[in-house]
Amino acid sequence: MSVEAAPEAAPGAVRVYAEYDRDIHEETDVVVVGSGPSGSVVAFEIAQAGHRVVLLEEGPPLRVEDFELDASRSMARTMREAGLRATTGSVISTMQAICLGGGSVVNSAICPRPPAFVFDRWSTRFDLAQTTRADLEPHFDAVGEFLGIAPTPEAVQGQRNLLFRDGCERLGISSEPIPRNVRGCRGSGECFTGCRSHAKQSMDISYIPAAIESGAQVFTSVQVQKVRSNGSRVGGVEGQVVEPFTGRRSHRVRVDARYVVLAAGCMATPVLLQHSGSLANASGQVGRNLQFHPGVAVAGIFPESINPQFGATQGYHSLAFLEEGFKLETLWAPAPVLAVRTPGSGAELQQRFAEISKLAVWDGIISADHSLGSVKARWRSLDPALRWNLDPRDVKTMLRALYVLSEIFFAAGAQKIMTGVRGMPDELFSLEEAEPLRSEVFPPNAMLTGGNHAFCTTRMHGDPKQGVVDEFGRCHDLDNLYIADTGIFPQCTSVNPMFTGMALARRQALQLVERL
Ligand SMILES: Cc1cc2nc3c(=O)[nH]c(=O)nc-3n(C[C@H](O)[C@H](O)[C@H](O)COP(=O)(O)OP(=O)(O)OC[C@H]3O[C@@H](n4cnc5c(N)ncnc54)[C@H](O)[C@@H]3O)c2cc1C
Ligand code: SF4
Repeated sequence: MSVEAAPEAAPGAVRVYAEYDRDIHEETDVVVVGSGPSGSVVAFEIAQAGHRVVLLEEGPPLRVEDFELDASRSMARTMREAGLRATTGSVISTMQAICLGGGSVVNSAICPRPPAFVFDRWSTRFDLAQTTRADLEPHFDAVGEFLGIAPTPEAVQGQRNLLFRDGCERLGISSEPIPRNVRGCRGSGECFTGCRSHAKQSMDISYIPAAIESGAQVFTSVQVQKVRSNGSRVGGVEGQVVEPFTGRRSHRVRVDARYVVLAAGCMATPVLLQHSGSLANASGQVGRNLQFHPGVAVAGIFPESINPQFGATQGYHSLAFLEEGFKLETLWAPAPVLAVRTPGSGAELQQRFAEISKLAVWDGIISADHSLGSVKARWRSLDPALRWNLDPRDVKTMLRALYVLSEIFFAAGAQKIMTGVRGMPDELFSLEEAEPLRSEVFPPNAMLTGGNHAFCTTRMHGDPKQGVVDEFGRCHDLDNLYIADTGIFPQCTSVNPMFTGMALARRQALQLVERL
């Protein structure tokens, strides 16, 4: 595994761990903390407008040859807490990336725009009059064009995605090819462990090289530990160089800046604020309101091989049930991840995996607005303590999504399905057997769920007493501190969040440029 080299798209331009032989002290107009989708867009827009910007990222850059197909090794290198982060309360596993490009390097590149009703709810419930879908449309357009976001072509769908389309068609449910930020996808189904074809337009090969071309400075392996403040304004950030994959700390880092933009992700940003003397928290909302899109999945076995290794990782989805509170998608993952979600162990698990060539997995992501949690700083650690409670009303929506997925599987010709619900038989051979999903009550701990979409921990609200930032990401309490990550969402987006985070980030960057 190489940690010395910069990403291929920007040779020599990204500062890396091996270069650091002394303390770092920089002075700039804007410092951005975190190089995920939101932070990268901000850094690009500021640099493109001709201003000085420093982008700091705790993780290293990864090259194509660094991507490990073995999911457990990959997770140990690309994810915080080796991909095993989970909440207490109701247990939900959640992954956050740690590398140049953040979540965009390991995600499936799914980029839908939320429907207008999501923004209508946000505007009315959270006093955000300028955050309608129409307000954000130019920003979606600009990001979409930059990243080549387009519907997944049929040629790379593969059978496991097209069977979902066919099942939906037979039931009269609308479905469509997923819009993704890819160029030249060859349907390898390995988005989760990193795109070896350089097709996925993750930030490390798209916005970050473009930001550098416009003059941005990018430092990787720099962990920001504190925002410096005098109470009414912030003056920059402090941190340390950290060795990739071990986290061993060495040289000190200090960046003085006129403006600070925190884009460290919705779990790291509140912790940074808490470690900086409970900054920006007059509302008491920092670290509160944690929401997920808890995911549920059904696995189905078809009579013949469907060659599931071929096809875009997630190629088809249905937006038909968004107002009911769920979105349906196709899904593929490396075998070790599939194994976690497959019933049985030892010989039983082996037997199930003998059927892998006939397997498809389709999932539902739930708009779990009733299920809230919190992010709290731990003593002397930047890893968060997470708590979350799955509300029975959201369990009902999960069961409804599982039932609809079961219908689609049997309509598409599946022989048997697995729902992963504790209290249901491991395998179901007909839709009638899935009936308890509709008629029975299951407790929250019966649901096998995970949530990689997380938000709302520094939410925006027009009322400074009820939110941390305004609708342009500016902290209500501190004039020159901004937050630009999915933590600023007031509620979930109903659809996959990255694109919305980037559209909001672009809008706030352009507003910040006006102030520089
Ligand atoms: C496996 C997986 C699949 C997903 N699939 C999709 C999908 O297909 N479509 C979609 O819309 N969403 C998807 N998501 C979610 C999506 O990736 C995230 O919502 C998105 O990346 C959030 O962007 P962000 O900029 O807010 O934060 P992040 O992407 O989390 O970026 C934050 C960055 O800040 C860095 N950082 C944190 N703390 C510090 C610190 N103290 N100092 C310096 N740097 C720091 C982190 O290392 C990270 O690189 C997926 C997520 C995962 C994990
Ligand atoms: S499916 Fe494969 S080729 Fe396509 S974007 Fe994902 S990893 Fe890259």
